[in-house]
This record gives sequence, structure tokens and C-alpha cells, in this order.
Amino acid sequence: MAVEMHAGLVSEGGSKLKMLPTYIDRLPDGHERGLYYAVDLGGTNFRVLRVQLGGLEGRVIKQEYEEVAIPPELMLGTSEQLFDFIAKELVSFVAREGQDFRLHAGQNREIGFTFSFPVKQTAVNSGTLLQWTKGFKVNDAVGEDVVAALQRGIERRGYKMRIAALVNDTVGTLAGGRYWNNDVMIGVILGTGTNACYVERAEAVSKWAGDIPKSGEMVINMEWGNFWSSHLPRTYVDESLDNESLNPGEYGFEKMISGMYLGDCVRRVLVRMAQEACIFGTPVPHKLLEAFSLMTPDMSKMHHDDSSDLKVVAEVLKRVYGIQNTTVGIRKIVVAVCDTVCQRGARLAAAGIVGILKKIGRDGSAANGVIKRNTFEQSDMNGFHDEVPVHYTSGGRTVVAMDGGLYEHYTKFRNYMQEAVVELLGEGSKNVVIELSKDGSGIGAALLAASHAEYVIS
Ligand code: ADP
Ligand code: MG
Repeated sequence: MAVEMHAGLVSEGGSKLKMLPTYIDRLPDGHERGLYYAVDLGGTNFRVLRVQLGGLEGRVIKQEYEEVAIPPELMLGTSEQLFDFIAKELVSFVAREGQDFRLHAGQNREIGFTFSFPVKQTAVNSGTLLQWTKGFKVNDAVGEDVVAALQRGIERRGYKMRIAALVNDTVGTLAGGRYWNNDVMIGVILGTGTNACYVERAEAVSKWAGDIPKSGEMVINMEWGNFWSSHLPRTYVDESLDNESLNPGEYGFEKMISGMYLGDCVRRVLVRMAQEACIFGTPVPHKLLEAFSLMTPDMSKMHHDDSSDLKVVAEVLKRVYGIQNTTVGIRKIVVAVCDTVCQRGARLAAAGIVGILKKIGRDGSAANGVIKRNTFEQSDMNGFHDEVPVHYTSGGRTVVAMDGGLYEHYTKFRNYMQEAVVELLGEGSKNVVIELSKDGSGIGAALLAASHAEYVIS
């Protein structure tokens, strides 16, 4: 991972890791003030959010959000339909803004737009879609500026708002985490898909043609879902799943790790067992042959079944596949398959995080300049952060801001991942903290809208 990161930073197309510069060179620090909005288009749900920020004293004074499922037909429709839907939801949410939220006189509503697909940015608030992932296929949107598309949707509804920042969900999560904690250097998503971003030294981004930002830093969207390496063992499960996906040959790492795919990995193993060893009798239950019929939340339910006769496993097999009368022995096999697939995904995600830590010299192995900051008093640490640029604190505490339904709800996945980080880093793992930054991606986008607003409230 660390080697591929390096290759992706040197030249465009240097690695399957796109390592996209995000144009974000400063992260929120608590000084942000005013009313800001965010819209978050992820994979499964669409969210709108507003937040009233009160600077260092007030912080987040009030926030509200709404979430709607994305109508499946829009995932395969036209760009205009998709962005019209987003604009409609946003505008109706804005219309319900209460008295507690206040714009400054002369201030326009500014929006942070979280768009969790690979985008080539051309500015902090513009960028073109490179390709769809996670089951989306809105063909005419590829190559389009997604900010302009949303802006048009908003204007068609007679509203005037400015999109101040276009951010990947990992970047939103990073920003949301950093707002509260200066040690946050990495943002990771484990949800429908998976991805990571981190704070890089701008000078290390050789392919960057622009000026070196004043901060000396640049947030890089890795698009790590597309990571691939000859060292990764690929099984028949990975091959067949990839062949039947909407983006064959792409996002292989994501297909081994994330919520959209884990359940289907389990299903494919069960199909083979059903065909070769008749574990579900004969013939093989028809529905079991249907791609993506086992969703990861059901896999997780079976995996966490702690009843002695594995009732939950029996219930899921019956409800999803109409499979009845399984023996406890067969149910145990199903749990073992869930465990194997879950553990593989979790360990790969952990290895990815450790790769980033190595790349930025924070895996606890730094030979020089190691500052054991965890021995400082909390108050010393706060003073320390304010004065020292973050990348000079190599060897100190590093926080990974994490978001996503898979990490949040799949306890065994989370535990396996944590175990693997400790296994890989040894002593160094004491200085690495993975922190759930729930809905950080939404609020992070609003915070980035604030720090990149046209109208700055001092
Ligand atoms: P998105 O990635 O679409 O922005 P979320 O971060 O909310 O959305 O993640 C939703 C994904 O999390 C689902 O697609 C599913 O794969 C996974 N997930 C949700 N609940 C569970 C659960 N109980 N167990 C395992 N995975 C879950
Ligand atoms: Mg999301």
C-alpha cells in the first residue's frame, strides 16, 4: 500500500491508487462561524444537513439533518434526474429552516457537497466524475462537473445557493474529526464502499502542478477501493463477483472489504458448498444463485448469533432463501463462512490503514524525532498542538477518523480490524487511535464550506 501510494503521487496513472489531490490545504480548526449546509450523496442514503457554528466558544450550536434512501431507479438513470432529486430534497429542507438558524446579513447559503465517488478536482468547488462505483451507473454524468450539475438543479428550482466545497466523504470525515481533535490525520470510510484520505506533505505530491499551499499540506483522496497488488490472493469468489459487478476489473480492494460486497462473498462460497456438498439438499435453492441476494446486515446478524442452536442463522436462511430444516452442524458452517469473509475484509482494511501510517511515518517505527506525546498531560498536549505543525509530530499520537455503516454496526468486523492493527504495529499501536466519527462526512462538508466560504464571518 505504501509503495503504491508513492507511485500514485508521482505521476497520473502511476498506480491503480488514484491519489487525487483534493485542493483542501487547510482543515477546520474551530474558528468557523455561521450557518452552513451540506448534502451527502454516498451509496445507499442521501443526507441533507444544516449547522450553526459559533466559533471556538460556541462550536456546534445546533445541527439538524434528514436522510432519505436513494430511489434505486435514480442510480441507473440520467444525470439530470439524479441531480434534480438532490436539489429537490435540499430545497425542501432549506424551506423548513427554523428560527434557531441564522444567516448573517448579506450572507448567502453556502453548501458543502459530499460526493463519494472518484472525482478529479479542478478547484476546491469543482470537479469531474471519473467513474461510478458501488452500483451506480448514470452514464451521462461521467466526465461532467458535478458541482455545476447540482448548481443547475438548484437554480431550476428558483433557489440561490453557493456550493463552496466539493468533498469526498473521506475528506468530510477527516475534516469533521480534525475540527475536534488536532491528531486526526487520516479519514477512512467503511460503509457501502470503502476509501481513505490523509494529510500529505504538499512537496511529496510530485504530480501536483499548482503552487505549494501556505500550509505546506494537501489532503489526498486515495480512492483505495481501487487498490490492487499481486500480493493479494484472489480467489474464485473474487473473480466471479468482479465479473458480475457493474464495474468489472475495477475497485478490487473495495470488493473484498466493503458492505456492498461482503454478503455476496459469503453467498458465493455457500453456492459452491451447496453445489459440491449439497449442504442445503438438492436441488440448490434457486434464490441462492441470485447475485447480491445476501446483504451484509444479514450476514452480520448470522455471524453474531450466539444462541446455542443458531436460531438467527436458521431464521435468515429461511427468510432470504426459503431454506428450512437445516441442522445445527450446517448452520455452524454458515457462521464459519461469515467469519472467514469478515475476517479477511477487516484484516485487509487494517493493513491499508497501517500502510498509510507507514507512508506518513506514523507507524511507531520512526527512528528519529519520536515524541512520546502520550506521556504528556492533556493540557500540555493542547498547547503543543497549537504551535507545532502536525507533520512535525511524527511518532506522536495519530487518530484515524472513521465513518460508515459497516464499521459502526458490524462489531466482529470492527474487532478483527482493531486486532490486526495491533498485530501489525505492535508497541506502535499504542499511539494509534481509530475513532468513530459518526456522520462526520456530512458535518465535515459543512465545516469545509465554512472554511472556504465566499462570505467569511470574523
Ligand atoms: P453509505 O456508505 O452509503 O454512505 P453508510 O455509511 O450508512 O452508507 O453504510 C451503509 C452500509 O453499511 C450498508 O450498505 C451495509 O453494507 C452496511 N451496514 C449497515 N448496517 C449493517 C449491519 N448491521 N451489519 C453490517 N453491515 C451493515
Ligand atoms: Mg456515507
